[in-house]
Amino acid sequence: MAANTCGWCNHRTHMAFVKGTYYSARDGQFDFHNAAYQCINCERYSVAYWQHLYYEPDPSEGRFVGDGGGPVPPDCAVWNPPAGARKEFPDVPDHLGAVASEAHLCRATGALRGSVILARSVIEGVAKHLGCDEWGIQAKITWLREQQHIRPKTFEAANALRLAGNDIAHADPGESVTAEECDELLVLMAVVLDEALESDVRLARVKEAREARTGK
Ligand SMILES: [Zn+2]
Repeated sequence: MAANTCGWCNHRTHMAFVKGTYYSARDGQFDFHNAAYQCINCERYSVAYWQHLYYEPDPSEGRFVGDGGGPVPPDCAVWNPPAGARKEFPDVPDHLGAVASEAHLCRATGALRGSVILARSVIEGVAKHLGCDEWGIQAKITWLREQQHIRPKTFEAANALRLAGNDIAHADPGESVTAEECDELLVLMAVVLDEALESDVRLARVKEAREARTGK
């Protein structure tokens, strides 16, 4: 079995080999592998894909295992769905949680610009959800701060995300984003969500649970 972070349930778990194929490219340069695996935690299927130059050793060679058989995908394998593809936001309104989840899906699949644009739009969505009718993201972030939905440092974080998103949205030549930058911007999005929305929901849940337990 292969150890991997399941792209469906996000658990670091074992992926049981189901079926695989192996073939060579027509130009003879590369050998390709595809194999299907089943997550032993959530039982959903993922596909791993890897390739190697035909005259170099298969990176999965010698890594066949156990009763289930099948190759163990090498570190260079591309998984579909990829690890981290599904991030849920249960404590924010569904329409905002869906956009935030899509920002992570884009990141996991390498659509980095798309991820940043979506993360930026989440910030606007948070302000609208809380009742802001200002025009433009800059005014919305200022409103979030003025209404004390976010702290001064989070205001700075939201503005950093706004500026990064602006650069991408205008598609200036040479404008790009690295995976590391994208990860940082997703953290900024998470901080804004947590502060403006999620922490209140969590506090209400704890309060309700305590009241149910203690009767006061
Ligand atoms: Zn799983």
